[in-house]
Amino acid sequence: MNEILNMSMNEMAEADFDCSCGRHHSLPIKKIAIGKGVLKELPGVAAEFKGKQVYMISDNNTWKAAGEKAHAFLVNDGFKVKSHMFETGNEILIPDEAVMGRVLMEMPLDTALIVSVGSGTLNDMGKFLSSRTGVPYIIVCTAPSMDGYVANGAPLICGGRKISFVATLAYGVVGDTDVMKDAPMHMIHAGLGDVLGKLTALTDWSLAVEMIDEYRCDTCVKLVEKALKRCIDNAAALKERNEEAILYLIEALTLTGVTMAIVGVSRPASGSEHLLSHYWEMDFITRNKYPELHGVKVGIATPIVAEIYEILGADIPEATRKLCPKRAFVEELLNSAGAMISPKEVGIERELFYRSLLNANAVRNRYSVFQYAKDIGRLEEVTQKITERIYGK
Ligand SMILES: [Zn+2]
Ligand SMILES: [Zn+2]
Repeated sequence: MNEILNMSMNEMAEADFDCSCGRHHSLPIKKIAIGKGVLKELPGVAAEFKGKQVYMISDNNTWKAAGEKAHAFLVNDGFKVKSHMFETGNEILIPDEAVMGRVLMEMPLDTALIVSVGSGTLNDMGKFLSSRTGVPYIIVCTAPSMDGYVANGAPLICGGRKISFVATLAYGVVGDTDVMKDAPMHMIHAGLGDVLGKLTALTDWSLAVEMIDEYRCDTCVKLVEKALKRCIDNAAALKERNEEAILYLIEALTLTGVTMAIVGVSRPASGSEHLLSHYWEMDFITRNKYPELHGVKVGIATPIVAEIYEILGADIPEATRKLCPKRAFVEELLNSAGAMISPKEVGIERELFYRSLLNANAVRNRYSVFQYAKDIGRLEEVTQKITERIYGK
């Protein structure tokens, strides 16, 4: 039981076990290959589809980062591959109706496997296409920028709004640290931000267990904590693109995805810090302002949530209080890697900031420290204090 605790990341594919939390967990992902030089293992990961039609999607940046090599590995191994590369120049690819339509039109009729090469956007496009066509997909990761490689949600732009569609989990994940260590530093910072967000996500989960008796899987908590620790201990080395630090980062991101998939809730990965980040993002999108990378916002939101816990102090039940990181600790970690810390740096004005703290609990129906602070009548006081610390009196 719980042998998953001793498994390496790559051994977790198709994990299937009775857990000490009383539930049976299984992970439908068939292949996970994460590590140095694993891109060349792609033909092995895709072996089941050899001789059938493979459809590869990328953009000009991800093609250069890994697509070209991935394509060559497959073709040299005898795979039949059609590649479609979106030429976006220096612009980023926006997954809207036109782009999703194009990706579908380019798809060969007899496609048996989709291979998507990229990070956030191309991963979301690949999994959406896969979910609607029933054709499995493999994601070749190009940046350790968020935890969505193992997740079934696909946020796309539809009718000018960002909509989180339910899609499907990947058949396989290939994450080569030789590729990811060369990702733009901003994306590496985003990945770190998304990982640090797990500190407050786990704290919120504990609060929900104590306050409203929510289900929690302690095996999953232990898995995330273990990966978090390794990533945190090496965070400062991300600045130098240290390969081990990149490996621990992508492992932590992938592992939180794995735990989400096996417990069927996003609690191991997202808490109040994600509510804040989503609030800011929705506000930016409504105003046609660039919303910044997901993980960058989560990174900025995390010390703020830690501060809420600090201010509430003795009002927080003891077991949860002990779990929460200190604001200074999270800020120091972000700082050591060169990542942004202040909401001001991403253009969040005082008014938006103030409003976001008061209303983040309405982003989704889920118990959080915002709800708790509201219930005990201290949300306005906390909001005032933090706003004044950051923006002045
Ligand atoms: Zn996230
Ligand atoms: Zn469990």
